[in-house]
Amino acid sequence: MAIILDGKKLSEKIIENLKEKTSVLIKKPKLAVLLAGNNPASQIYVRNKQKKAEYAGFESILIPLPENATEENILEHIYILNEDSSINAILIQLPLPNHINKQKILEAIEPIKDVDGFTSYNFGRLALGYKPYAVPCTPKGIIRLLDEYNISLEGKKVLVIGRSNIVGKPVSILCQKKNATVIMANSYTKNLKDISNNSEIIISAAGSSKFLTPEYIPHGAVVIDVGINRTDCGLTGDVDFAGVINKTSYITPVPGGVGPMTIAMLLENTFELFQLQKDLII
Ligand code: NAD
Repeated sequence: MAIILDGKKLSEKIIENLKEKTSVLIKKPKLAVLLAGNNPASQIYVRNKQKKAEYAGFESILIPLPENATEENILEHIYILNEDSSINAILIQLPLPNHINKQKILEAIEPIKDVDGFTSYNFGRLALGYKPYAVPCTPKGIIRLLDEYNISLEGKKVLVIGRSNIVGKPVSILCQKKNATVIMANSYTKNLKDISNNSEIIISAAGSSKFLTPEYIPHGAVVIDVGINRTDCGLTGDVDFAGVINKTSYITPVPGGVGPMTIAMLLENTFELFQLQKDLII
């Protein structure tokens, strides 16, 4: 019988712990969220992130910008946030409107306030095996969830489906850091079924609803479903959960798996940046 990797429960534990640590502080960690445009999913994510931040006793501000905001508008806000010593962490909600150069925007964040770890400074350090100021939230949350259930990555064959900068690439780096043998798949990969059937841990961040059906999953596999797909039947993951659950040893649900861990790691990163900045001042 598969064990459900309960990201919701673990995220609540992490957030409670942060709340306790924050309750004794006079100055609280402060997160700034910049939301450009009116993507409905982004608006929900941002609201959730802010709600959890406030629950944990953090301060948070939202900078909403219109869909037609220019790169210069957004950059100006980032420069102000970089200079503002009361702000510890800056989050740019993705996706940005199509006319905006995402790379240019993310690169403008001061690395020590880059709560998602997406600047080339932080990502480069992660890739080189040095400590970044912050590790990208979703990949960090996946590793934390595996750790919580004592699932070792050492020597394991791990398949990462998807090669985005947000999930696929950084999670593959983190798995290699834990001595896993990692294969990365993308939409051009041939014979994905053969590769997945030869894997022990499958991490899917493809964004394709329920495409991982039982034929892709070997008996005893650990399956981490990062996908969040909005379909006519509601939110679904990349994995056909009901179809594959009996073949797996461990599996994350959607919702309630990786999603809540991403938010918990966002708050943990905010707290860590806050402490780091405090230490630098002293
Ligand atoms: P993306 O669209 O940037 O990248 C998707 C990747 O998957 C690409 O590299 C593509 O080549 C690959 N891919 C797509 N279909 C494939 C297939 N059939 N076989 C092999 N590879 C395939 O996506 P992203 O930003 O990394 O997000 C991926 C999914 O994860 C989305 O559903 C997104 O909503 C979700 N997501 C969830 C969280 C969370 O906290 N749970 C966080 C970030 C992203």
